[in-house]
Amino acid sequence: MRLVLLGPPGAGKGTQASAIVKKYNIPHISTGDILRANIKKGTELGKKAKEYMDKGLLVPDDLVVSIVKDRITGDDCKNGFLLDGFPRTVNQGEALDRELTQMSLKLDRVINIDVEKEVLIERAIGRRICKNCGATYHIKFNPSKEEGVCDICKGELLQRNDDTKETVEKRIEVYIKQTKPLIDYYMEKGLILNVDGSKSIDAIFKEIVKALQ
Ligand SMILES: [Zn+2]
Repeated sequence: MRLVLLGPPGAGKGTQASAIVKKYNIPHISTGDILRANIKKGTELGKKAKEYMDKGLLVPDDLVVSIVKDRITGDDCKNGFLLDGFPRTVNQGEALDRELTQMSLKLDRVINIDVEKEVLIERAIGRRICKNCGATYHIKFNPSKEEGVCDICKGELLQRNDDTKETVEKRIEVYIKQTKPLIDYYMEKGLILNVDGSKSIDAIFKEIVKALQ
């Protein structure tokens, strides 16, 4: 099963990715994780990527494409893979197609977790994180017993600086602008599987599994 996972920030992509790779016994390939790991290890690739990221720029396509190419030719990808964080643009999507064609492979499905902007904003601005132990809460969906205090360690609960309405809106707008053409690209190829991301984690996963049968 060769899959791509798309969805705006805060759509619950990570949770679904973990469940999908477990179910289908395929590796979860997150380009963000690979880049961060390389930066941490100080590899040549990591150094190159860091230069761009430090300047607040996107890592260029050829660099990301070469990482993905290298990764999907690995032995553990024989049964397939789940790509997360790549492709982001139509250019990257086309590059991925070229690589797969060269390997006589093709994508099976592109899972698109769709969540309305208002829902994403509500999720993000209600999120609270314990200053001490990192436990996460939500003032509406998963509140702590005592307001502003961690159930586990009694630490103070804080809101992340970038979880304000304005920054969340900005993040989503950037995502939509960048990814909409990519969704259209996969739509034309008949690969898109749209999933309603406002449902529960279990319901979303069941919907994905059913569609992949
Ligand atoms: Zn805590």
